[in-house]
Amino acid sequence: MDRKGMKMNNINKKFWFIVGSQHLYGPEALGQVEKNARVIVEELNKANMPYTIEFKDLATTPEKITELMLEANYNEDVAGIITWMHTFSPAKMWIRGTQLLQKPLLHLATQFNESIPWDTIDMDFMNLNQAAHGDREYGYINARLDKRNKIIVGYWDDLEVKEDIAKWMDVAVAYNEGFKIKVARFGDNMRNVAVTDGDKIEAQIQFGWYVDYYGIGDLVEEVNKVTEEEINEVFASFADLYEFDYGNNTEEVWEEHVKVQVAYEIALKRFLEAGNYTAFSTNFQDLHGMDQLPGLAVQRLMAEGYGFAGEGDWKTAALDRFLKIMSHNVATGFMEDYTYELKKGHEAILQSHMLEVDPTFAVNKPRLFVAPLSIGDKGDPARLIFDGMEGEGVAVSVADFGTHFKVLINQISAFTPEQAAPNLPVARVMWRPAPNFKTGVHQWIENGGGHHTVASLALTVDQILDWTSMLDVETVIID
Ligand code: MN
Repeated sequence: MDRKGMKMNNINKKFWFIVGSQHLYGPEALGQVEKNARVIVEELNKANMPYTIEFKDLATTPEKITELMLEANYNEDVAGIITWMHTFSPAKMWIRGTQLLQKPLLHLATQFNESIPWDTIDMDFMNLNQAAHGDREYGYINARLDKRNKIIVGYWDDLEVKEDIAKWMDVAVAYNEGFKIKVARFGDNMRNVAVTDGDKIEAQIQFGWYVDYYGIGDLVEEVNKVTEEEINEVFASFADLYEFDYGNNTEEVWEEHVKVQVAYEIALKRFLEAGNYTAFSTNFQDLHGMDQLPGLAVQRLMAEGYGFAGEGDWKTAALDRFLKIMSHNVATGFMEDYTYELKKGHEAILQSHMLEVDPTFAVNKPRLFVAPLSIGDKGDPARLIFDGMEGEGVAVSVADFGTHFKVLINQISAFTPEQAAPNLPVARVMWRPAPNFKTGVHQWIENGGGHHTVASLALTVDQILDWTSMLDVETVIID
């Protein structure tokens, strides 16, 4: 997976590598421990890691451990702690520090030597390679403190172990950044719809998502300030990016409608940046003063890394931004379960929306098209039409059950549709839910999962689980 990171507010974070030990075997042994730890950190950083690991310290006293954890808490650039119990670390020393740590914790259960050297092994070797012992002592305290930390077991130079560390880092960074997500909602939720509603205060307490309302007029004001030069400058870049499809429109009418969306994009971006919002929602029922429902504008902002969901669905908009951070905005975005394919052996769900399908899923060069919106009586909005890529991934949804939130995770298998759909004026993504269509759909409905999801072909069920475990929120896994 490409972990170069998204363009939008590039997130620079690091992780501290802390080795647990004690003074039983003298300073020479401790010197060797530190040397070995530095080798591991250096080699891990050479692998395809999304963030840097920094060797922080050899921790051998409760005072030191507590100090390190407090330091990690207030250091904005530290996203989490990786611990390694090289030579056994009596875990009473870790209690206070672990209690105070407010950032994700990974217990790397590994050993410097891959194999037991039967010809030379003696008690010095045994004492120096004592993670098997230390892992259990340390794990006991984490379990007793209900730390719900991540544990990765295996040889540190193994590819699978490195990949697991990389995936956890992505979750840990997203976890921290999640508390900074601010959602601007233009308009309220769509009338009569249940699942997109919810308790915004509880969402902030649980997930850290900050949700503010704005009247659509606030955005219209910003749209009116956008100049023709600004619009033309953005429009000029489209010829390389998209295939122009005038359809039944004249080129003039088509361009005019596209440029309305460009003005929306510029205005939205300005508005969001000014308020530090990284996610937003719109509602087609609340467009006073707007000529079109934002379509192309929303799609281009999604491609940049903004979270979005339609119909005032602020929960899904925040989740979208969250998972875009976790996935580096690779094949991740807002989706709606639209239409079933029920033919036996071919069962699948067509994912789409009235306009706003995320271009990070596009397998082909998107077609820029202007057509009437099937809902409401506004002007014909411009939108990008494309087919979704294939791949394994997840569909995630957050539902508010009044007493608590429930996170639903469905493993999915996406594929590119083979048949053309000449009359469908929206992008389409197809997938099959795991373990099979019937069970997957059945369990989703039975558990009260919404029709809005955030899907990702760059994330795994385990990563979402790591996150919900950090938050201690009810989670339903369908895989
Ligand atoms: Mn919808």
